[in-house]
Amino acid sequence: MERAGNTNFSFVIETPDGTIPRMQVGIPEKPIGLSDLVPFMQSLADEIIELAVKKAAVRNRQVTCGPGCGACCCQLIPLSAPEVVFMVNRLLEMSLAERTPLLQRFEMIEKRMEESALKNRICSLADTDTDNNAAARDYFYLKEACPFLVAQSCSIHAWRPVVCREFNALSDPALCTDPFVNKVRSIPLFKRPSSILALLASHVGGIPPTLVPMPLMFDWYESNKELRSRTWPAGMLIKKLLEITVEPVNYTPLSIFTAEPYGRKP
Ligand code: SF4
Repeated sequence: MERAGNTNFSFVIETPDGTIPRMQVGIPEKPIGLSDLVPFMQSLADEIIELAVKKAAVRNRQVTCGPGCGACCCQLIPLSAPEVVFMVNRLLEMSLAERTPLLQRFEMIEKRMEESALKNRICSLADTDTDNNAAARDYFYLKEACPFLVAQSCSIHAWRPVVCREFNALSDPALCTDPFVNKVRSIPLFKRPSSILALLASHVGGIPPTLVPMPLMFDWYESNKELRSRTWPAGMLIKKLLEITVEPVNYTPLSIFTAEPYGRKP
């Protein structure tokens, strides 16, 4: 977003975990789409998480995640609507040679979800934690690694989804082999950064704050052409995003997994 003609806006955020050092963002004169905010949200998420990691370190709690551990990369990765658009666009920008094997992996995962009836279950989930947890667990047991996982490392580390940045275990990494049986402890966050863009999309787009499982992001992308092409004044979006970040209410549970267009949700 930082292009010539932008107005630079700098800010400091006070959080329950401490002060986020001064950040700067370029505000374009022209209206922007929600997906244009994703790189900024990724940077902000990194700052929020770094504060939490430092706070844990003061209490002698260290992150136990290490290089080459992709244990959490078999989980059902939830994406906010802006991130869906961002991820699919990044894929479309890749060369055919880069994109084809990734799309084949996504197709294969979707096929396995269809064969196990998991896709239908997820698309028709009631908004209850029980259903969501059961679906997330059953997806994990398919043991289909994320298409972006290469040699147990994330091949899109710089632009990986915000939720992937939140996985910071404090417990024995061996427990992560089955987080649905073992009690995995992770860094507590005053707010889940992965929820912020979903809440923003809900606020300005008039849609429920739904998260879309990454394997189903193409369905959502195709079904929501109108929303993904809408634009808003950039300054207003950034102001609202920062308000959501600092508002004292805790993380709003975003437990609906759906590939349905938002408008069809009751
Ligand atoms: S995007 Fe990267 S970090 Fe996230 S699940 Fe996939 S491989 Fe893992």
